[in-house]
Amino acid sequence: MAKERTLSIIKPDATKRNLTGKINTKFEDNGLRIVAQKRMLLTKSEAEAFYAVHKERPFYNDLVSFMISGPVVVQVLEGEDAVAKNRKIMGATNPAAAEEGTIRKEFAESVEANSVHGSDSLENAAKEINFFFSETEIVG
Ligand code: ADP
Ligand code: MG
Repeated sequence: MAKERTLSIIKPDATKRNLTGKINTKFEDNGLRIVAQKRMLLTKSEAEAFYAVHKERPFYNDLVSFMISGPVVVQVLEGEDAVAKNRKIMGATNPAAAEEGTIRKEFAESVEANSVHGSDSLENAAKEINFFFSETEIVG
């Protein structure tokens, strides 16, 4: 295992319910370090570009609307095996299928409003981190 960085987004359903701290505690308690973080309102074009990989999916327009419906917290998480580790901490996309103790099991409202985004590969992590952060904003 190697030290990796992954992109995380705390989604609007979670920021609205004031869950940023509780979600960050999950990352920290599981050995990930928050090495960059900012709260922002995504523009429609930013949300569309970020989720461009899903643009043919039936839920794309709703997903974009949801992601701009309130503040998000975008963050870079660093640690051993960070990409896979974060996916495990997050739990399954559909909270009904998520394991006990995961963020989505504890906090998600629905398959769409599922509280967090996490990069799905090291390659996508690098692209997604680059989408939101410059290297000088990341302090490991
Ligand atoms: P993950 O976030 O677990 O990597 P995907 O990349 O498949 O999941 O989907 C991106 C996001 O799109 C999900 O986190 C969720 O917010 C939304 N989404 C996925 N599948 C559905 C669905 N069937 N209906 C509504 N929204 C969905
Ligand atoms: Mg995904």
